[in-house]
Amino acid sequence: MVSWDTIEVEIELLRKNEHVPQELVSFFKDLTRHQLEFKKNLENKRLSIGISSPEMAQKMKDGVHLLDFTHITLEGVPFEDLFRNICDTLEKYGPGDSDDIQRLRKTVNDTSFDIREFVRKAAERDVHYFELLSREFEVDGEHLQYLGIQTVKPFFELLASKVMNTVKDAKWVEPFCPVCGHEPIMAALEKEEGRRIFQCSLCSTEWAFRRLQCPYCLNDDHETLRFFFVDEGSPYRVDVCDACKRYIKTVDERKMEEGKEVILAVENLATIFLDILAAQEGFRNPGQYLFGIEEEPLARNG
Ligand SMILES: [Zn+2]
Ligand SMILES: [Zn+2]
Repeated sequence: MVSWDTIEVEIELLRKNEHVPQELVSFFKDLTRHQLEFKKNLENKRLSIGISSPEMAQKMKDGVHLLDFTHITLEGVPFEDLFRNICDTLEKYGPGDSDDIQRLRKTVNDTSFDIREFVRKAAERDVHYFELLSREFEVDGEHLQYLGIQTVKPFFELLASKVMNTVKDAKWVEPFCPVCGHEPIMAALEKEEGRRIFQCSLCSTEWAFRRLQCPYCLNDDHETLRFFFVDEGSPYRVDVCDACKRYIKTVDERKMEEGKEVILAVENLATIFLDILAAQEGFRNPGQYLFGIEEEPLARNG
């Protein structure tokens, strides 16, 4: 686990980045701190992932991701506290309107609301569930789903750390996460061999994937795969697929300044202007949530 001190230094560097809305930096810093605290509280508890080592090995061989929510015990996991803390953070720094957040907060106190089901549905990306919940509590559905993902994310990151060795040794060639099955949110081109590494949008596991293939629709026709960047010397670019109109941002570590710590979650925020550009061009990334800022002017400082 990267330490809070290291992450904080990297987040604070974003204060000087005019392309990142400052309230988003504050939001992200608070969110990350709450998620790390949640993980610290659970670190020494026994978490059961519900499958044996031979079963895991077989799954890796078959190209099936390891974790299945139906086998994971969620009892006693303090999701309520994290949910409330994220609501507070949302209220403090935006984004989103505060009436929505007031209703979100009430949601968790509502007796018909089951937080364990909520986080499970978020991890399973049950769109139908979020549509129903959105109607029931009059809260924007996408907002709810984002909140669900952020509440369950640190739990999955902990589970992923338990199976890290199994994943490292496996020959995984799929475009989705070997641990939880979610799609990549961001990519890096490694310094040494230039391998393309993906980071999972849910559990943050990293895995290698072919460089010239779209991870979303598996298109490998180089005519319809391309990338764009804002500045040629910059380590950041956007890989787009014209076949499915999806994109993934990439950090080219070979172009990164020497000694810089690459924390993809922070790089993801540092390059939010590229998400806005991609959205304006009609591309989307299924794991990326933009809080509606893609509709606002590019350089916004608070
Ligand atoms: Zn994952
Ligand atoms: Zn595609």
